[in-house]
Amino acid sequence: MEPMQYEEFDLDMVIRRMQDAVDVVLSSEHDTSKVAACLFDPDGNPASIISRTNHRPYALKQRFDWTDRIGKSSQFIHAETACLLEYGRSAEGHSICVTDPFCPNCAKTLAESGVKRIFIDHKGMDKDFVQRRAGAFNVISLEIAQKAGIDVYILYRKDRRFEPLRLPTSHIVPAPAGVVIDAALDMEAAARVKGDVATALTEFAAESGINALPHSAVCCFAASKDGRVHRVMVHESLPPGLSPQDVASLKPDDTDKYRFTVDALNKLYFVVRRHELKIIGGAVYCNRVPSSRAFVNMLLTDIRKVMIAGRVPDHDPTGGDAARLYAEMGLIEVDWV
Ligand SMILES: [Zn+2]
Repeated sequence: MEPMQYEEFDLDMVIRRMQDAVDVVLSSEHDTSKVAACLFDPDGNPASIISRTNHRPYALKQRFDWTDRIGKSSQFIHAETACLLEYGRSAEGHSICVTDPFCPNCAKTLAESGVKRIFIDHKGMDKDFVQRRAGAFNVISLEIAQKAGIDVYILYRKDRRFEPLRLPTSHIVPAPAGVVIDAALDMEAAARVKGDVATALTEFAAESGINALPHSAVCCFAASKDGRVHRVMVHESLPPGLSPQDVASLKPDDTDKYRFTVDALNKLYFVVRRHELKIIGGAVYCNRVPSSRAFVNMLLTDIRKVMIAGRVPDHDPTGGDAARLYAEMGLIEVDWV
């Protein structure tokens, strides 16, 4: 299929937002890789603008040296993902300016969030990441973006111009896979959830059969903006629009160390934002031990209690170390159920 034509946007406004990202990039604490992003809605509404560098959650910064790892994960959260996690609203249909090409993991979080356009500063195309990980960007990041209906551009600020780098084959944005948000509970059931979320979650988990699933999944209760309470279940899956055939058609050499699958818990973080849901009691139930990356990202979410069933790790065997470390430090309540 031929890629689509790009859709119109306000170039001057986009250049200003790229400038916002460039303005903060040097404040990144990382010594070798300083990256920034600016997320904004298509109208450039000032209340929608958020700029972040790659950075560590405050709770980690207080306790660790910047080179320490949480399990196998760096403490740093990439700029694009940090914007999405720290933005209080749904980023569906939003644009993002980034100083550097986005990595496959950020491609996944942008796709899960329903972001519509990505602008990369042209200077970033010559920098470290693309040079070292050209395959990861050219093959995985761009493939994920294209299938998710995201337009990707290179922006030349000084020349006030842009070039489409990769356009989607369809502008219809596919819905995230593996997400089940049930109809609202009645008032009595909702009150019971709010009264004792751990018990309610245990019942929900048992009823749903989550522990018997052959893949990772998480469940929680979440309140929508109108205050009604929903059961939410998220299964690990490929990013929106990406099929197993797409993945199979890529050369393993080019896929580097990255997985295409999005972890259930990581996906939940973006699902609740996309639907503007609030997790009741900050409590989630996982059928596998979440990855160390999910534990790092967790500190930019409202989650404060993780119930973990079984001892099987979701793809990352160091997730359990991260869970124990967080529990010891009192960062997160971990309940091995
Ligand atoms: Zn990234």
